[in-house]
Amino acid sequence: MSEGKSSRAFIGVGSNLNDPLQQVNNAIALLHELKDTRFLAASRLYCSRPLGPADQPDYVNAVVAVDTHLPPLALLDELQALETRQGRARTGQRWGPRVIDLDLLLYGEQTIATARLIVPHPGLHQRSFVLYPLYDIDPGLNIPGQGPLAELVARCKADDLEPLTSA
Ligand code: ATP
Ligand code: MG
Ligand code: MG
Repeated sequence: MSEGKSSRAFIGVGSNLNDPLQQVNNAIALLHELKDTRFLAASRLYCSRPLGPADQPDYVNAVVAVDTHLPPLALLDELQALETRQGRARTGQRWGPRVIDLDLLLYGEQTIATARLIVPHPGLHQRSFVLYPLYDIDPGLNIPGQGPLAELVARCKADDLEPLTSA
């Protein structure tokens, strides 16, 4: 990784098609190879009920932490390239089944609102499958505009969520 100051970013990983466990593990392996980026940690893997259309398989979810020199939009480009490489077609319905979803959850303490990128990710503060894995990695985290992660976790039911692996 190049010299100079990097930013801590958190990436949400999800899959509910074509062997989701394998897809998520594969994505985590590919995230180790992101350019100008150092892989720091992966959360436990979780099984979660689908959001949106209910007539689809359960998801496997995880969160990854990295330190990156990529600016936010360049990082999003890399994540979308990985989604495509892993076989995701961008044609399905919103929140429909997918082989892989890589969302940029947090980028340092930045708040970003552009046509292509919203950070913190808009669903983050109320999604159990994001909050609990984030908490695995960094329980002291503060979510810009939302407050301490620990408080968001305390307010978020996890009855739709099941850890698949131990820490
Ligand atoms: P959700 O964003 O509610 O989890 P999704 O992940 O299924 O839904 P996608 O189809 O993966 O949505 O992405 C739709 C668009 O969202 C992308 O083309 C991207 O430009 C935009 N987007 C905005 N903010 C983000 C972000 N923080 N991370 C990833 N994509 C984002
Ligand atoms: Mg998503
Ligand atoms: Mg997405």
